[in-house]
Amino acid sequence: MQISETPFKFPQNTVEIPEVPSFEEEISSDRPWQGFDEKDPPEQNVIDSCVHCGFCLSTCPSYRVLGTEMDSPRGRIYLMDAINKGEGALDETAREHFDSCLGCLACVSTCPSGVQYDRLIAATRPQVERNQPRNWGDRFLRAIIFNLFPYPLRLRFLLIFLWLYQTSGLYKLVRSTKILEKIFPRLAAMESILPRISLANIFDNDFPEIIPQKGKKRYRVGVILGCVQRLFFSPVNEATIRVLTENGCEVIIPKNQGCCSALPTHQGQEKQSRELARNLIDSFADTNVDAIIINAAGCGHTLKEYGHILKDDKQYRSKAEAFATKVKDINEFLAEVGITAKLSPLTDGELSVVYQDACHLLHGQKISLQPRQLLQQIPGLKLKEPIDAALCCGSAGVYNILNPEVADELGKQKVENLLKTKAELIASANPGCSLQIFKHLRLQGKDIKLMHPIELLDRSIRGLKL
Ligand code: SF4
Ligand code: SF4
Repeated sequence: MQISETPFKFPQNTVEIPEVPSFEEEISSDRPWQGFDEKDPPEQNVIDSCVHCGFCLSTCPSYRVLGTEMDSPRGRIYLMDAINKGEGALDETAREHFDSCLGCLACVSTCPSGVQYDRLIAATRPQVERNQPRNWGDRFLRAIIFNLFPYPLRLRFLLIFLWLYQTSGLYKLVRSTKILEKIFPRLAAMESILPRISLANIFDNDFPEIIPQKGKKRYRVGVILGCVQRLFFSPVNEATIRVLTENGCEVIIPKNQGCCSALPTHQGQEKQSRELARNLIDSFADTNVDAIIINAAGCGHTLKEYGHILKDDKQYRSKAEAFATKVKDINEFLAEVGITAKLSPLTDGELSVVYQDACHLLHGQKISLQPRQLLQQIPGLKLKEPIDAALCCGSAGVYNILNPEVADELGKQKVENLLKTKAELIASANPGCSLQIFKHLRLQGKDIKLMHPIELLDRSIRGLKL
């Protein structure tokens, strides 16, 4: 379909503002009217399935922090409806309300009417990117993010400079003087989630292409290494591979695999998202695996959406659908096939662990019992539950860089709730959540271990104490 280059304009004198008080306040009549373009706008029948009951409001993190209707799922659906019908404009204000959505999908889990808000926001984001220009600061930051984060090789070079920045102690000066915060607060937000960078993680994170199983072969599985996971949390990938091979899985790791496209997909960068998805599908062609395993929640959710992302690509549509059906989160896969390796206690006594639900596992993939069941199989491990377990930690991909104020409030609340359980260790199955929680533990002066559930299973299989 051809994208219209001139945004469609509605004549001002025919515009009627819908009778929704908070919406009336926010949509003024003196700006040029501009609707969604004709390429995949949010579907009207999905918009119409919202009965405006408001059940979703209390579970929405942006509404909880900002407190405005237009920053809630219902408010955004009103906004999409108005823009779709030519009664509202896709302008800067509308963009801010769509940008404030974390894409956590808590509203999808909550909605009693089954409104597919995930489909709506996924269709809206590319519309925003195409039709609502951003200021230079925003464009600059996004250019850094989209040109670096999805490319492990480029990220690797940047990490060398960041390693020097950390080892020279310069970061202490930057943080204590708050100089970056004053000049470019969102770059400071990016700097603030940097974990301790290790040279080993930067250079020593490659694996053989085929890793044999231990004992009798049960499955042949592919493993996706991820971008952030590969460079910041390489031990999580190592643990994933060991646990799989210990449980009778032959592991295939295609050398040429790149980014899964989660980051550009969540931000409405359609072209880049499709290109990366096609590349990843190609890298797994002919591997003949039973399942494709991922250990990062956000990536897993995107990988399972490949059929939708490439729905208009005649050459790749069916390949994308076939690929997506094979994708399994590591917790989901192990819970399904069962752990055959012997598990040992991680401490001499009891170990209390609080599991932190990643939104793209809990809401996006409906995976919440599996990681808990796996952890509870470890002898001596006692699981604790935090309050507000289903509320986003504020990481949400790069949301904590692009919208640091809201993200910081959510991060602070999440860490307080995790700490209130008095658990000795936090288990988190998403690298973005882990970075966000590390940051807020540091800000609250708390020193508590945080590990991926697969690292705990790995240690338990290897008989290693914490
Ligand atoms: S999205 Fe669902 S829960 Fe929220 S207002 Fe609409 S119908 Fe109600
Ligand atoms: S995806 Fe999350 S932040 Fe966005 S409207 Fe739904 S609950 Fe709110």
